[in-house]
Amino acid sequence: MFASASPVTRAIVLASALALAVPAAGCSWFRNPATGEKSLLWISRDQEKQWGRQVYDELEKKPGFLPPDSPEQQRLERVTRRVIAASGAGDDWEYNIRVLRSDAVNAMAAPGGFVFATGGLMKMTSGDDDELAGVMAHEIGHVAAKHAAFQMQKALLLQGVTVGAALLASTLKNERSREAAEAGAAVSAVAAQFLLLKFSREDEYQADKLGVDYAYRAGYNPEGLVTFFRKLEKQEPGGGAGGIPAFFSTHPPTPDRIGKVQEEIRRVRRKRADQPRMNTDKHR
Ligand SMILES: [Zn+2]
Repeated sequence: MFASASPVTRAIVLASALALAVPAAGCSWFRNPATGEKSLLWISRDQEKQWGRQVYDELEKKPGFLPPDSPEQQRLERVTRRVIAASGAGDDWEYNIRVLRSDAVNAMAAPGGFVFATGGLMKMTSGDDDELAGVMAHEIGHVAAKHAAFQMQKALLLQGVTVGAALLASTLKNERSREAAEAGAAVSAVAAQFLLLKFSREDEYQADKLGVDYAYRAGYNPEGLVTFFRKLEKQEPGGGAGGIPAFFSTHPPTPDRIGKVQEEIRRVRRKRADQPRMNTDKHR
């Protein structure tokens, strides 16, 4: 129903969705697993879950999910659940993991344990679980560090709900307006806003760092993320489809980024050399 809504309308819809989070019921200190720093989080678990559920429900309608018994869905669940188990973030949520019907190459994690990968990503990493594990471990890194919840909180704190709508609208008018318009045409408002949510460089670095560690502990080769980045480099930037933006657009595989990931792989291998890892199923 929001397919033809203007960016302003969509921003207002998002603001109303975020407004659900305003009564600060569950204010608590959260320790970032990547940095060890503590920050005050006043978004409650229920609010995170509520937002994630709303995104999930909208994406289920458009573009939809592959059936639970499809090979892509089964592979995604097997790999992602192994990464979650190794991460230690597994007890926090009942995870919902689904493959989106989209040829775009992307993966994303909504708050509250709702995790998605596209059919395009499954195809691109086909036959290489280390690559899929690398990407999903990066996403679980965002979940473990609660990046989406803090983004949501920041938007509310800095802008206020009413002003927030106007600011979001003006943001949409800028560099991401074309993408937002396309996404809005294919998925509905809250989902479109979630898909275009941009984490800071620091958040991305933290997710890379946590992801390398989780993939390694899960028994995968953490180089998988690097080989995936190499494949992305060869892809046309911005190759989104069906309202789903491309991983490339929010995660540019810059030489600097790849270098940092490789450095992290060496560090994790040294640090965890004597520790047991999970055995991955080699029947791929
Ligand atoms: Zn990311």
